[in-house]
Amino acid sequence: MKIIHSVADLPRNLTGSVGFVPTMGAFHEGHLALMRRAKAENNHGVVSLFVNPKQFGAGEDFGRYPRDLDADAAMAEGAGADFLFAPTRDDVYPTDFVDVVVRGVTDRWEGAHRPGHFAGVATVVLKLFNLVRPDVAYFGQKDLQQCQVIRQMVDGLNVPVRLVIHPTVREADGLAMSSRNRYLSEEHRAKAPLLYACLIEAANAIRSGGNVASAEESGRSRLEQAGFLVEYFAAVSLPGMDPLTDLPGPEGTSAVIVAAKVGTTRLIDNVSL
Ligand code: AMP
Repeated sequence: MKIIHSVADLPRNLTGSVGFVPTMGAFHEGHLALMRRAKAENNHGVVSLFVNPKQFGAGEDFGRYPRDLDADAAMAEGAGADFLFAPTRDDVYPTDFVDVVVRGVTDRWEGAHRPGHFAGVATVVLKLFNLVRPDVAYFGQKDLQQCQVIRQMVDGLNVPVRLVIHPTVREADGLAMSSRNRYLSEEHRAKAPLLYACLIEAANAIRSGGNVASAEESGRSRLEQAGFLVEYFAAVSLPGMDPLTDLPGPEGTSAVIVAAKVGTTRLIDNVSL
């Protein structure tokens, strides 16, 4: 695997397809699953590692986001990546006068709780697509609303990249893997799987014809009783991320989503309906 720090060193004219996994590093099995799939389904696997300042709000964890290039490089190589592109801030933002703003799907949930976050995500992903020029890009369902934002960006701007959404990879106890899980104290780590348990419970209730609002309410209150600070717990329709008001449609057309803080760590997760 080749580590590339400068845009000038990116490979050009590779023969065959390029599968691309954009990341912010601090790799875990979720990232590695995307990398293995990108390599398995393409001739070349390219991973980018860039902690994108533009997608962090004031008071968020940009400064303390875990950074360990050597460990990440070893893991990416083990997962079959051919290139690890770890650009500098100046390479990604030679100027900073242009943002990609996706309207509509960003109105609620993460978009409402993290103002500017999705403009930061859409901007950096389009930049990385333009730099890496992949045929296929791989994203995790863990960040469900992000997937819908990227889909809107690609469709809305005629971006010639095919998107693949990979299922969420979980710990044995159900906790969705996340770079931020390493912030959790032992006590909070023990509580964290309740997020997934509540999502499953709500999804089962809704699938079996239960009232959506009461499924949301019981998920929220069970989490609050356990000490979580719940930002949202909601059933939504896809791809628009609008609140689900009626019975869910065919499988995969809606989901239950949650964002909650345990201690100072903010966790998000979702399950398909
Ligand atoms: P990040 O480094 O957090 O920006 O994540 C890079 C990519 O990995 C994004 O597409 C995420 O959705 C994806 N990802 C993160 N955690 C998981 C997980 N537990 N399972 C599957 N994909 C994930």
